[in-house]
Formats: sequence, structure tokens, C-alpha cells
Amino acid sequence: MEKIQTLILGSGPAGYTAAIYASRANHKPVLYEGLQPGGQLTTTTVIENFPGFHEGIDANKLMAEMKQQAQYFGTEVRSGSIVEVDLSKRPFIAKDERGKEIEAQTIIIATGASAKYLGLPDEEKYRGQGVSACATCDGFFYRKRTVAVVGGGDTACEEAMYLSGLAKKVYMIVRKDYLRASNIMRRRVEEQDNIEILYNTNTVGLFGQDGVEGAHLVRFKGQTNEEKFDLPIDGFFLAIGHSPNTSLFKGQIDMDEHGFILTKGFSTATSINGVYAAGDVADPIYRQGVIAAATGAMAAIEADKFLQSLKSK
Ligand code: NDP
Repeated sequence: MEKIQTLILGSGPAGYTAAIYASRANHKPVLYEGLQPGGQLTTTTVIENFPGFHEGIDANKLMAEMKQQAQYFGTEVRSGSIVEVDLSKRPFIAKDERGKEIEAQTIIIATGASAKYLGLPDEEKYRGQGVSACATCDGFFYRKRTVAVVGGGDTACEEAMYLSGLAKKVYMIVRKDYLRASNIMRRRVEEQDNIEILYNTNTVGLFGQDGVEGAHLVRFKGQTNEEKFDLPIDGFFLAIGHSPNTSLFKGQIDMDEHGFILTKGFSTATSINGVYAAGDVADPIYRQGVIAAATGAMAAIEADKFLQSLKSK
């Protein structure tokens, strides 16, 4: 069995930053890229809010640079995923999809989260061409234009408020006759002049030549007063929640009721000594690349301290 010091799961900004720090600390980390090499950022185009790039940077280029930086300092990056882990005792045991078993003294979980989509074929068709699940990432491209945000929770309200500062008009497409969001967020969107809330409304498709030009909507779907209509929009933002990619660890590590890994105080330490969680997998609130990178650095520093403490025992 392969014996290593640090195993990193995930190849978004959290995973690669952890890898850069861990390899510079000479821990020869092994990083598994997972199902989406480069992580969620690769679903967007240009990133303009990652410090250091005043003209923005192509998301794929940024992630390729991070990968190269991690490899430069000695990280072994492997394609594929870890499919089984045993965190019940240390060294921890992990098995990859090819059946290879690894014994690791520390594990950094940076498996991220996945935005939920409605499941419409048009979401795939227009991905990156008007369909987005991140207003902070892509909102800037819709300055003075018309956009729609799907969802009625706190995330949808925050996204709508953010977009209302850029776009000419923001529609919220809400399937129920109320917003599930907290009172304060509800009030904010209701009071914002350029936000219009479409209640009891579902999206059934999108249309447009070279990008989104509108959405096919249905009000009171399945009821006697059902009404179909088309809404002209330039951007379609999903804000119906995120799912952390934590099924692999269910029952082995403490999580909140949505499956986000719980960390202790201002640290990335989890309920298991030697296991750290960084990035969106432990962050239901911010979901920003720069924050994922920062917590990746924290995880590697904490893992390093843990490995040092083992040596001094
Ligand atoms: P929520 O689960 O709270 O809300 C999801 C929203 O999307 C709901 O309005 C839901 O509708 C709607 N939705 C879900 N699936 C579909 C679908 N298939 N079609 C149409 N609409 C759909 O998720 P959030 O991401 O908003 O929030 C997650 C957690 O994070 C919450 O606890 C929230 O309070 C918290 N949060 C806190 C923030 C803060 O405090 N600043 C900021 C952001 C999030 P329905 O109501 O009909 O189920």
C-alpha cells in the first residue's frame, strides 16, 4: 500500500492552494482532481474578483496556473477520484477508482460543492452563454441589461440584490407564492425598485440564437388558471441552493443538516484529528474562490502542525 503524509481531495482553489503550501512544507502531497478538474470556477469564463489580475483572468487559465504551481513544488496531481475512505483510525485509508489503496497521515477535504440546476436541457445548452449559478462571478457582464434569478431563498435574494446594482432590471422567478428567505432579505428585494418578483412561476425552457434571449415561463403550473408566457432576459441565474460534495464522508465526520462539513472555530479542523476541510465543502455562506484558496492555505498549515506533532511524539 502506498504510504503518504498528506492526501488532498479536490482541484479547486482550496485543493490547489493546500497543495502549494503542503508541498512547500515538503510533505509531498498527493492530490486527486475529482470529477471536475479545476473545480466550480471552470464553469465560468473570466474571473475578475480574484486579486492579482486587474484585467481579469480566464478561469481555466487560473486553475491551470494553480495546478502548475502545485506541481512545481512537488505535488503529485492524479486524475480521477477517491471513491472510499476510512477515517475511523489513523493512518487513514483511501481507495481510488482504479482500486489503488493509500495510507495517509492527514487528509485535506476540498471536494467543493455543486450548484443545483433545474435539470432543463436548455441550461446545458446555454451554460456560459447566459446561464450562470454565480452572480458575483458573472453579474458584471450584465451591466444595464435584464436578468432573472431563480429561487426564493436567502441566496436568491442576495444574488438579486447584487445584480440589481448592475443590471437595468432583475426578475426573481419564484415557484411558490412567497419568498422563503429571511425577513430582512425579503424586505430588501421587495423594496428595491428594479427587482420584480414573479410568484407561482416555473421555468420550462430558455430561448435565444447565440445566447439566452429569454425564458419560457408558466404561472400556476398544472392549475386551471395555468398561464404560459415568455420573458425577455439576457441572463438566467440559478440560486436554488448548493450541495456540498460530501457523500463519501457521510457518517464518518460531523456535518450540518445540509451536508456541509463542520469545522472548529477559525480553523479548518474537523471532528477528526488530522482531517481538514477547506473551501466550499465547509462554506455554506461565501462560496468565493479567494476564500476557498485562503482556507486551503489554512488547512495545509494546520496539517503541517499536526504532522510536526506526530514527529515529536
Ligand atoms: P434554500 O434551500 O434556502 O432556498 C432554495 C430556494 O430555491 C427556495 O426558494 C426553493 O423554493 C427554490 N428551489 C429549490 N429547488 C427549486 C426548483 N427545482 N425550482 C424552482 N425553485 C427551486 O437555499 P439557499 O441557497 O438560498 O440557502 C441555503 C442556506 O444558506 C439557508 O439556510 C440560508 O438561510 C443560508 N444563507 C444565508 C445567507 C446569509 O445569512 N447571508 C446567505 C445565503 C444563504 P421553495 O421555497 O419552493 O422550496
